[in-house]
Amino acid sequence: MPGILQADLTLIDGRLKPGVAVHVGRSGRITKVSEDELATGVMATAVPRPPIDESQPGEFGSPRSRRKVRLRGRILIPGFVNAHSHAFQRLMRGRTEYTVLGQPGTDFWSWRSGMYRVTEQLSPEDLETVSALAYMEMLRAGFTHVCEFHYLHQQPGGGRYADPAELSARMIQAAEFAGIGMTLLRVAYQRGGPNEPASREQRRFIDSDPEAFAKALEATAAHIDTDDRRPQSLGVAAHSVRALDTDWLRELARLAERKQLPLHAHVAEQPREIDQCLVETGKRPMEHLADCGLLSDRFTAVHATHLGTGEAELLGSAGGTACICPTTERNLGDGLPDLGALRAAGAKLAIGTDSHVRIDPFAEIRALEDGERLRTGKRGRLTDHEGLIAPTLFDAGTLGGAATTTHEIGEIREGAMGDLVALEADDPALAGVAASRGSEDALLAAIAVAGHSRLVKDVWVGGRHVVTDGVLLRWQGALEAYNKVAKRIWS
Ligand SMILES: [Zn+2]
Repeated sequence: MPGILQADLTLIDGRLKPGVAVHVGRSGRITKVSEDELATGVMATAVPRPPIDESQPGEFGSPRSRRKVRLRGRILIPGFVNAHSHAFQRLMRGRTEYTVLGQPGTDFWSWRSGMYRVTEQLSPEDLETVSALAYMEMLRAGFTHVCEFHYLHQQPGGGRYADPAELSARMIQAAEFAGIGMTLLRVAYQRGGPNEPASREQRRFIDSDPEAFAKALEATAAHIDTDDRRPQSLGVAAHSVRALDTDWLRELARLAERKQLPLHAHVAEQPREIDQCLVETGKRPMEHLADCGLLSDRFTAVHATHLGTGEAELLGSAGGTACICPTTERNLGDGLPDLGALRAAGAKLAIGTDSHVRIDPFAEIRALEDGERLRTGKRGRLTDHEGLIAPTLFDAGTLGGAATTTHEIGEIREGAMGDLVALEADDPALAGVAASRGSEDALLAAIAVAGHSRLVKDVWVGGRHVVTDGVLLRWQGALEAYNKVAKRIWS
């Protein structure tokens, strides 16, 4: 039996519309979107909310859910897509926000040293536990899909696990436990830098050669749940031009092309990486990646902070996406990307929470526009065809992220996955904005500039009800397990 959701307002094609009923079928997909059901009285009666069951996510069609759910006081939007995540870095939150007095200030590279100390201590079980909590926090904040840029493959020091997919499988299990959709990007990592072997800490990230990488990818594929209701799939990533030489990059591009996989890479996050690339190849990172055949409409450039002349055009003309991670980029002192150039070049924009210093999609989409204002000294930078800003920001948080995956997610339309988020319309942050008729555009803008993750009340992933009235399934047990790991790592 299909389920029908009807909120006060529903976000479709960048606009909030009243009277929309969203039908989700057993397939987990949206089977119908009707925009005038309120007027015809089909959904005139409020239906009690489904009871909370701590053990199992609710599903449309199950005995405890009701066929029609009237979401009063709610705004229904497509689930956000987190296009860049290193889930284990959730452990570092609040642990790197200091400098040792009398020492030079910290930067990206000193932060990285701290991150390596964490990766050295994580067992497979730890990784699964920490990642599960990060994914649950994402769901609670309104993300329904995550692209996990996964680069931990071996034992500390580089010893091999019996199953080359041991740690990848842990990430998949963590996502399944939490109930979030996942694109697992197995990351290729070869070296510490040009003419620089991997350090001891980096040996955990390394496959010996492209053949070993391809075999490990095959082994990982066996762990992917092919159930269409749980959007889960595989992709690949080049860690960076620093971590892979030209031959490796070319092999990776061929592999992704042959299998038609999403291909992501960190690009131009730090000036040092660009200088090294220029010395090694004579090219800037995006130019070098283009030369090696990585750029296509399946390619996502993560960060794209310090692009030179013509690099945005290379990405845009290939149909690629720039995944901006504003909170992490500010936290690490990376800099501000030129989003105007990327948009003008035709590149799509997506968002990621990367190091998880904070997990809040509203903060990320808002920061796209705010960063452009700070960079240019002007307002109203990321406008749509009518001069509105919020639709562009929500588009980056949803459809832009979807473009970095192979899934039909990020929008409320017939055939898309039932990845949906219901927001509290009466939150103090939004109070009074929609007091007059025809205020839908102002309300959407208010959600963009003043919204926060606690607006999120209900979340469905492929039609499965995974956050109910602000309550996350299985949170308490997951938190207790996480605390044990955090205590051990940091004591
Ligand atoms: Zn990253």
